[in-house]
Amino acid sequence: MKGNRQGGQPDRVTQYNTIKVRLYPTPAQEELFQKTFGCCRYIWNRMLSDHERFYIETDAHFIPTPAKYKKEAPFLKEVDNQALTQEYNQLSQAFRNFFRNPAAFGYPKFKRKKDDRDSFTACNHVMGTSATIYTTRDGLRMTKAGLIRAKFPRRPRSGWRLTRVTVTRTKTGKYYGCLLYACPVRRPEPVAPAEERTIGLKYSLAHLYVTDLGDAADPPRWLRQSQERLSAIQKKLSRAQPGSRNYQELVQNYRLLHEHIANQRRDFLHKESRRITNAWDAVCIRGDSLRAISEELGGSAVRDTGFGMFREMLRYKLERQGKQLLEVDRLSPTTKVCSACGAVNETLSPRARRWVCPVCGAAHGRDVNAAANIKARGLGKYQSEQAPAAC
Ligand SMILES: [Zn+2]
Repeated sequence: MKGNRQGGQPDRVTQYNTIKVRLYPTPAQEELFQKTFGCCRYIWNRMLSDHERFYIETDAHFIPTPAKYKKEAPFLKEVDNQALTQEYNQLSQAFRNFFRNPAAFGYPKFKRKKDDRDSFTACNHVMGTSATIYTTRDGLRMTKAGLIRAKFPRRPRSGWRLTRVTVTRTKTGKYYGCLLYACPVRRPEPVAPAEERTIGLKYSLAHLYVTDLGDAADPPRWLRQSQERLSAIQKKLSRAQPGSRNYQELVQNYRLLHEHIANQRRDFLHKESRRITNAWDAVCIRGDSLRAISEELGGSAVRDTGFGMFREMLRYKLERQGKQLLEVDRLSPTTKVCSACGAVNETLSPRARRWVCPVCGAAHGRDVNAAANIKARGLGKYQSEQAPAAC
């Protein structure tokens, strides 16, 4: 979702947009998709284990290309070669990420059918007027699979170029295609953040976020209701006889509702990030690592509130309007510092929701005070980056 400079046209940038379409494969196409998911896992695992072996033997990093495996595993020829190439590219990227920042990315893992997503990605190759992937009025044309019936929630605008497609199968057996488009747009005018046009956001488990003005984003009622229904099913599931028909039905219901909640949550995060982006010129946020928060909270479900997703949505939505997401180092103190006088309150209990500064007497709500500090630090960081280097 990053805007990149295009050579020669300084006022044009490429934006990436995705359109997610529901796919309705025929039984034969479904079989081909299943095969492709399997082949992608197979080739990933083979490349990963050969990389390991090669490293042990020669002390050098090398990943064989998919072509090498086709002789010994002829079934690989039955699926779209593009999907296999993409596995190679993704594994290479996973290693590059790992070597750059091992703590954040971790060593690439083997893919097991049990816990891996059923998906594959194919890039579109355009030569002149022909393309390996293209859309029709009610279908998606791919190599090997042919024309797959598809339902489009919206259409690409003119000038958008289809660059790649990711096909996934959900746990409930639905197929989706994520169509990635490269879209040339005019570069947005950069917006310099003024203090009164900047907002600080503090991550909150209960509210998603709390702002330095004291506003909170509360997950909507419909999301809470779905979550309550989910825990009701969970309760029934724990009492049902595993393997019974009732159990199977409950599992299917559980998965459907789970998917529904994920969609509702994404919808909520899109609306919230859109609202904030339109209302403010800059957003300050802590560069929290979700893993670290989760550990602080004893491994509870931080991922579920979707704060990481929310931050990425904010990032690209702001960027598209020439605005800034100002990230504050997650280790810099924000909670214990008084936003009024700057004194550090070392005795602040981790459970205190409100506190009074022992130095200046200011009364603080825990999250609002932290959000104010995040805003001040974010703006401070921006200003020091803009200032000319001292000679
Ligand atoms: Zn104070």
